[in-house]
Amino acid sequence: MERCKQCHKWYGKPKEVKVGDDVAFTFEKVSGKRRQICGRVGKLFLIKDDGFSVIYRGTVHHADEVASPDEPSPLTLAFCGVCECEGRSADSAKGGSDD
Ligand SMILES: [Zn+2]
Repeated sequence: MERCKQCHKWYGKPKEVKVGDDVAFTFEKVSGKRRQICGRVGKLFLIKDDGFSVIYRGTVHHADEVASPDEPSPLTLAFCGVCECEGRSADSAKGGSDD
């Protein structure tokens, strides 16, 4: 993805990742009653129908989304949002569904 020069948010297509790549992912750490979202970089182990398996420090974590470490993490995108400057949002609006 690239950074917009106007709003400094990200736009464009994320780089594709494949099994064996280092990927940034998030997982939920539960300690007692507290839940915490953690962002880490691990190795992509498996691509599943419902998400990804990522190995981090010898443990396999399930992640709904992964991204190349060069890319903004899903957490970053969730917090900062993506560029919606004029002309850009139209590109991402093109989904695969046609019903
Ligand atoms: Zn923008």
